[in-house]
Amino acid sequence: MPKQIQYTIAKIALNVPFNQLFDYKLIKKTTEEQLLGRRVFVPFRNQTKIGIIIALSEHSSYSNEQLKTIEQYLDTESAVESDSLKLCQWLSRYYHQPLGQVIFTALPNAFKKQKLPKANRANHWHITELGQTIDKNELKRSPQQARCLSLFQQHHRCSMTILNQHQITFSVLKKLLDKNWIEDCPAPPISLPAPSAPITLNLEQQQAYQSIKQRLQQFHCTLLHGITGSGKTEVYMYIIEHILQQGKQVLFLIPEIGLTSQTVKRLQARFQVPLVTLHSNLTDKERYLAWQQAKHNQAKLIIGTRSAVFTPLPQLGLIIIDEEHDTSFKQHEKTCYSARDVAIIRAKQAQIPIILGSATPSLESLYNVQQKRYHWLSLPKRAGDALIPQIGIINLKQQSLFHGLSLPLRTAITEHLEAGHQVLLFVNQRGFAPVLICQQCGHGLSCSRCSAYMIQHRDPPHLLCHHCGQRTTIPQQCTHCQSPTLKPIGYGTERIEEALQQLFEVPIQRVDRDTIKNKHSFSKILASIQSNQPQILIGTQMLAKGHHFPNITLVGILNADNGLYSHDFRACEKMGQLIVQVAGRAGRATKPGTVLVQTYQPQHPKLQLLLHQNYLVFAEQLLKERAAAKLPPYCYQVLFRSEASVKQHAHNTLEAIKSTLCQQAPKSLDVFGPMVAPMEKKSGQYRMQLLLQSPHRSILQKILTEQSQALEKIKQNARSRWTIDVDPYDLNI
Ligand code: ADP
Ligand code: ZN
Ligand code: ZN
Repeated sequence: MPKQIQYTIAKIALNVPFNQLFDYKLIKKTTEEQLLGRRVFVPFRNQTKIGIIIALSEHSSYSNEQLKTIEQYLDTESAVESDSLKLCQWLSRYYHQPLGQVIFTALPNAFKKQKLPKANRANHWHITELGQTIDKNELKRSPQQARCLSLFQQHHRCSMTILNQHQITFSVLKKLLDKNWIEDCPAPPISLPAPSAPITLNLEQQQAYQSIKQRLQQFHCTLLHGITGSGKTEVYMYIIEHILQQGKQVLFLIPEIGLTSQTVKRLQARFQVPLVTLHSNLTDKERYLAWQQAKHNQAKLIIGTRSAVFTPLPQLGLIIIDEEHDTSFKQHEKTCYSARDVAIIRAKQAQIPIILGSATPSLESLYNVQQKRYHWLSLPKRAGDALIPQIGIINLKQQSLFHGLSLPLRTAITEHLEAGHQVLLFVNQRGFAPVLICQQCGHGLSCSRCSAYMIQHRDPPHLLCHHCGQRTTIPQQCTHCQSPTLKPIGYGTERIEEALQQLFEVPIQRVDRDTIKNKHSFSKILASIQSNQPQILIGTQMLAKGHHFPNITLVGILNADNGLYSHDFRACEKMGQLIVQVAGRAGRATKPGTVLVQTYQPQHPKLQLLLHQNYLVFAEQLLKERAAAKLPPYCYQVLFRSEASVKQHAHNTLEAIKSTLCQQAPKSLDVFGPMVAPMEKKSGQYRMQLLLQSPHRSILQKILTEQSQALEKIKQNARSRWTIDVDPYDLNI
C-alpha cells in the first residue's frame, strides 16, 4: 500500500493586497484533502483573519518557530471548489491581481463574516411514520412535547402560527424534530404561470439556432449580432431549452440590474425551472442563499450582473452574455477584470459553449471574429412585423432652442403624443445643469477635491460632485469675483423635465440614478411605461439598454456630439453604440418608429456613417482607424494608476515601476508616462498614469510576470496607492 502523505502545512489565501499564499501549521496532521477550499481563522499581524486553504503540504520554507497555527476551521463545507479556484488562479495570473483578493471578490460578501447565513427556517412541519407510532403517554415527563406530538397526530401538518396558538415554542418543536418524529414540509411549490409556447423562429433566427446547436458539445464562442428587436432573446431561449433538457445549468449575464426583472420575466414565463438572480441589489444573505442554490445544482437558470460570472455551477452547460459590448462588464476598481473575458475563459475551462449577443458588438469582439476566434452569426432584420425606425438629423446651428429642445423636435413630440404614443428623450447627464458659470468673469464652480465641475441639482437645490459625492449649497455669488450673476450652462435630465412640464400636459417620467433609488421605484416606472398611456420619458443610459417598450414611437437624442471630440480613443465607439441602442427603443412593436438626433455637426462623417449606413459599417471604419493608429484591438495595453495626496509620491511610484519594467524593454513595447491622469485630482488625491502598450499580449504578460516580485517590493514601499489594469477599458478614470 502506498504510504499516505501526512500534511502539516496549509497554504492559505487571505484578502490582503499581497500576491502570495501564506503558510500556516495545521491544527493537527492530516491525510485528508477535504480541507481544500475550506475557510479558516488565522492570526495575521496582530489580527485574526479569515482565509481559504488553497493547498496542503508536508513542508514549508519557513522554520517551525516562524510559522503560526490555524486557529479554527470555520465551516463544514468547502467555500471554493476546484473549478472556481482554477478560474480565480487564471484571473490572478492574467490580470496580475493578488489571488487572495481575487478569491474574496469571487465569493459573496457573506463569506467575509465568521458565521454564514442560515437558510430560512421552515414554516410548516408534518408528522413522520415514526411519529405516528409514538404513544403520547410515554411522554409523561415532558407534557409540552406530548401536547405538541398529539397536535401533529391529530392534524398531520402544522404551521408555527398554529403551534403558537397552543403556546408551543420552537424549542419544544425542535426536540421532536431531533427525534425524527416530525420533519420540515417542503416549501409549497411556487405557482408559476404555465409556460408560454415558443414563438416560431423566422428564417434567420432558425439558421442562427441550428448553427449554435451543432456546436454545443465543446467550447465554442459565438458572437450573435442582431439589430435591436431582431429576436436575439428568442434564439437564446431555444438554445437554453436544449441545455435545460440535458439537466444542465445556464448562466445568463446582463450588464445592468435594471434589466433583471425583464429578463427574469421572459425566461421564467418560458421555463419552469428554479431560477435565481445575483446582483448588487440583494442583501448579503439573499445573495449567499442564491449562490448556494446554484452551487448545489438546485437552481438551473442563473441570471446576474458582472460578478455572477464567479457563481459555482457544477452542471454548467452554457453561458450567455447579453449586450456584450457594455462597459459595465469591466470592473476597474480594486480587482480589475472583464466579466466577459473571464466568462470566455470559464467556458473554455468547462469545455462548454458561450454566446455573446449584441446589436452593437464591441470592436474587440468584431476583431476576434475577423481573427476567426469567434464564430459570427447575424440577425439583420427586425423580428415579426416591426420596422426599422426612420432617422432624422436636426442641425442645432440653425435652431433657437428652448432649454435644449429644438423646434422640429418639439413639433415631433406633439405629433407622436397626439397619436396616443410615447416619447423617449435621451440626455446623458443627470442633474439640472452640468456647470454654473459666472457671467462676469467666466469662472465655473468646481469641486474643491476633484478636477471637475460641480453639477447643479434642482430637487432640492444643491451642487453635487459626481466623482466624490461632495455636496454644497448653491452660492449666491461667484467664488472668484463675488459677482451675483451665476448662470447654469448646459442641460441635465432635471432641466429637460422642467422644460417639458411647461410645454406638455402628459405625464413625464424621469429615469436616472436620482429617481431610481431602489428597485421598487424602477419597477413602478417600468409598469407605467408598459401601461402604454401617452407619456414622455427622459432618461440617461439606464433607459438606453435592452428594454422593450412597445409603445415608444419617437426617440430624441438631445446631444449626439459628446463622443465626437473626446480625447478617449473609445469615445466614438461608445457614442455609436449608445445612439444605436437608444434608437433601438423606437417602434419595437407594430408601430413604426422615428429617431431624431440633435447635433451641431450634422456633416460629421462618423455620424453620417452611423445614421445612413449601419452600425457594422461604422464599426468597420473605426477598426480601420484603430489599426492605422495602432490602438486596441490591434495592440494590448496595461495601465498603472497611482494616487496620493502628494503629487510627487504618485509620480515617484510610477517612475519606480517604469524603471523596473523597462530595464531591458523589447522594441515592441511602448511606454507612455508617467503622466497626469485625465482627471488630475479625485477625492483630494492626485492621480497619475503609466501606460504600457505592445502589439503582442505575450510581451506584456512576460514582463509583468517576470517582474512580479519586484512590483511587490515597490508596493510594500510605495507612498501612493497603485493598481494594475490589464486591458483597461477607460483611460479617463
Ligand atoms: P432582441 O433581444 O434582439 O432585442 P427580442 O428577442 O426582445 O429582440 O425580440 C423583440 C420582439 O420581437 C419581442 O417582442 C419578441 O417576442 C418578438 N419576436 C422575436 N422573434 C419573433 C418571431 N420569430 N416572430 C414574431 N415575433 C418575434
Ligand atoms: Zn469631487
Ligand atoms: Zn466671477
